[in-house]
Amino acid sequence: MNVAELGGAFAAIGEQTWRGRQLAEAIYRQRIVDVEGITTLPKTLRKRLKADGWSVARPRIVQVFTSIDGTERYLIQGCADGLTVETVWMPEGDEGETGDSAETVDEGVTTSQAGRVSLRRATICVSSQVGCAVNCQFCLTAKLGLQRNLSAGEIAGQVVAVLDRQGVEVGKDRVNLVFMGMGEPFLNYDNFIRAVRLLVEEVGLSPQRMTVSTSGIVPGIDRFAEEPQEIRPKLAISLNAPNDEVRNEVMPINRKWPIEAVVDAARKVRLRSKERLTFEYVLLGGVTDQPKHAVEVARLVRRSGLPAKVNLIAWNPGPGIPYSTPSAEAVDVFRRALGAEGVPVYLRRPRGRDIYAACGQLKRTVETTDGDPR
Ligand code: SAH
Ligand code: SF4
Repeated sequence: MNVAELGGAFAAIGEQTWRGRQLAEAIYRQRIVDVEGITTLPKTLRKRLKADGWSVARPRIVQVFTSIDGTERYLIQGCADGLTVETVWMPEGDEGETGDSAETVDEGVTTSQAGRVSLRRATICVSSQVGCAVNCQFCLTAKLGLQRNLSAGEIAGQVVAVLDRQGVEVGKDRVNLVFMGMGEPFLNYDNFIRAVRLLVEEVGLSPQRMTVSTSGIVPGIDRFAEEPQEIRPKLAISLNAPNDEVRNEVMPINRKWPIEAVVDAARKVRLRSKERLTFEYVLLGGVTDQPKHAVEVARLVRRSGLPAKVNLIAWNPGPGIPYSTPSAEAVDVFRRALGAEGVPVYLRRPRGRDIYAACGQLKRTVETTDGDPR
């Protein structure tokens, strides 16, 4: 609920509407999880709310996996049922934003009044659905199928839970959000965009530090293009193949919305000054990582006429997925070939591979007896 909705809930029980702001402050800024702990409200009111069954009901981190590279992967439980999603914390960012205008200023490490060394930057990878219905052949999340949509509160609540765990000072620490966790955000559009509104208006994060990634859901991109800039994240499109023929194979959704339809929709997004669209490109060994593919991708990006950059991601392995990770040499040759064609290109460093936290590895895992996620 946003300030207005919380105010309405107070009005409905005969309390002052402006109490909604106090409650929003407590939930989203102070990150209080318990109605009784909201000391800005009078004690009698807190007692009454509690007795009436009001609760903050923020999603809970129920399990943490820590990578040798500092990445943390969380199992987070919503409120409606026992289902969990995964959220990833990447200190120092995930490099996905490399080359974006928002990141060109070097923000040095500073020390806060409390003597705490501020984070220079970090990225939180956020889930939008439990599982995913899109069925990309290289992605582990696809194996789950779609179990259900997350609510707006569950999407935003995931972020608040992680901000809280990490003691992030919003407005001071440089935290980026990427909607690149489990699920296809544009197949849960209403809840996704409501969550963004909560994160911008109530939590205080900037939409220019958020990126949403889509597999190319055209009606979703069309709606996204209509959003006001004050709440619109940046857009990334999972291209992942040099042409429709290969894309049909690795991303069957391409048969419904082929590359050209996706690019046409993306053109309708009115970019901010210096903003660029990102094409994500997963390099599948032998399948999408050949030099001739790089030439095709460059042509495609140029033909789009869009200010764009390409983020390369070497495929991260998952059990039962019949692809291979490209060789370091193939990745390098591909990157140089794109660069030589004049396309801005960045290589994303895999984060948390050892704990199954890297791109495409998010799937509810069970603990084995030796403690390894499987
Ligand atoms: N559903 C959205 C967002 C989540 S996936 C989308 O597909 O865009 C986030 C990114 O991870 C996508 O670019 C996807 O192509 C990539 N990805 C999926 N599986 C991967 C894997 N095994 N290795 C590397 N990247 C992968
Ligand atoms: Fe879904 Fe994205 Fe995975 Fe495709 S890559 S199955 S759209 S999460």
